[in-house]
This record gives sequence, C-alpha cells and structure tokens, in this order.
Amino acid sequence: MTASDKPDSLCPLCHASAMPRCVKRNLMIRQCTRCQHQFWIPPDPDSHVSTVYGDEYFCGSSGGYLDYVGEEALQRASARYYCRMLSRYTRPGRMLDVGAACGFFVREFQDAGWQAAGIEPNASMCAVGRQRLQVDLSNHALADLPSAQQFELITLIQVVSHLIDPAETLRQIRQRLVDGGLFLVETWDRHSWAARLSGHSWHEYNPPSVLHWFTRRSLRNLVESFGWRAIASGIPRKRIQVGRGVRMIRHATEQSRLGRWLTWPLGLAPSDWTIPYFLGDAFWMLFRVAPKR
Ligand SMILES: [Zn+2]
Repeated sequence: MTASDKPDSLCPLCHASAMPRCVKRNLMIRQCTRCQHQFWIPPDPDSHVSTVYGDEYFCGSSGGYLDYVGEEALQRASARYYCRMLSRYTRPGRMLDVGAACGFFVREFQDAGWQAAGIEPNASMCAVGRQRLQVDLSNHALADLPSAQQFELITLIQVVSHLIDPAETLRQIRQRLVDGGLFLVETWDRHSWAARLSGHSWHEYNPPSVLHWFTRRSLRNLVESFGWRAIASGIPRKRIQVGRGVRMIRHATEQSRLGRWLTWPLGLAPSDWTIPYFLGDAFWMLFRVAPKR
C-alpha cells in the first residue's frame, strides 16, 4: 500500500473523504465522495515538482514531452490564439504566465503589447527562454515574488492539473490580480466525450505528472469560490505533432495492443508533422476578479 492508498486520503478541494477510483501505473486515483473531484496525492509533495518536472519531462519523458522546445511553432500559435481572444475583453497590461516553461506564451504576449513575465520551476527551461527568446522568466515560486507585484492578467495554461494544492495556488493568484483583473485557465475535461469513451485509458489519466482531473463545472466552482466570475469559455484551437499524439495514446494505454492498434496509421507519418487536435477534451475558461471588499 502506498501513501496515496491510505483510507484517510482526503479531497484536496473540499477535504471530504475519498474512495478509490482506478489504478494507473500502480498509483491509486481517488474520487471525492462529496464533490466528485478525482485526484492523486503524491507521497512526497515537497520533492514532487523537482522529481517529476525535471529536464526529462520536457525532453524525452514518456509521460511528458518528446521535445518541448521543438514545439515552439505550435505553442506560440496557441498563445496568439489567446491574445486574440483576450483582446475582446481587455487591453494589454501586466501579465504573468504561471508554469511558463521556456516562455513561448510570454514572448507572444510581449509581442502583442503586454508587459509579460513568467515563472517556471524548471531552471533549465528558464535559462532556455531567457537565452533564446529574451523573455522575463523567473525560477521563483508564486509566493516568492515581490509582495507589491500585481497583474492585470494571470494565465495558467496546462498547469492547474499538475498543482499539488490548486486551492492554495488560486488563493495566491487572487492576491496578485488587480480589481477587475483577468485569470485564464486551460486544462482537460474529464466529462468530455473523448474522456468518457476512453474510460481509464484516457490519455490524461497520467499520474504522477497529472494530479487532478477536473470537469468544466468543478473547475468553475473552485475558481469562483475565490471571488472570480467566469465570463467566457471555449475549446482551444490546437495542433499537435504526430509523434507526440502517438506517444500520448500509447503511454495512456500502457503500451497495450489497443494503443498500438489505435495509433498505427499515425505511426506511418513523420513524427514532426502536425495535425489539428480533434479530441475536444481540453477547454479554457476566463474569469474576472470581483472588487475586493
Ligand atoms: Zn471534494
């Protein structure tokens, strides 16, 4: 029995008791008996980030990226999509990307007129971003930024499901946003048709790098409990490299015959070709901060 299998594992969102849901890679995913949130609690939270999101996660890890830096064009296209979307709601101001990797989003927001900065726990990614993209990237945690630093926009793109304590991070983000500030989240929807059809083989059931499995409703309820209001949401327009798609599916299906069968046609194409991401299981949500009382 691992630490995460202990019967006293409580829901990190509402602190109610949780029941076993399924096992992936010998790790027990649990589901809250009250709010239905699904999660896996790492046995050693203090070392989890450095253990799981080391350099290998961005370059070669079967549970992460084959070559994150090599995805520059795709990542920057995704950032431009959000810049255009946000232009309907606000003008450029101070922006912080949390979990910025090597700063592709920071660079694109900067080019769109934002005073953009990012924080990233992986020091190598920070160094790559500063050198290649000349962006303002910090290796600090959110809590360690200067207390007076405030932003008109904070983004959390493909990060919230990796957080040890999402509620604590949201509380810290709330403190960093000015009144009327915007908060943009992109993550995965476990109630999407792709997730429902895939069952426990869904590619996002990917502990130990993924720790939380949200639905649109559960994410919205959590964020709104901190005083934000959701003002827009949608499905991101993404492209994906063929090689990454194949690896995601085969990793999710634990190299089973089903995974190989599902991906064999894609396996015939060059791995760096890109295709539209068509599963529709990711979503974004935009929140606006209500004035502090
Ligand atoms: Zn709960």
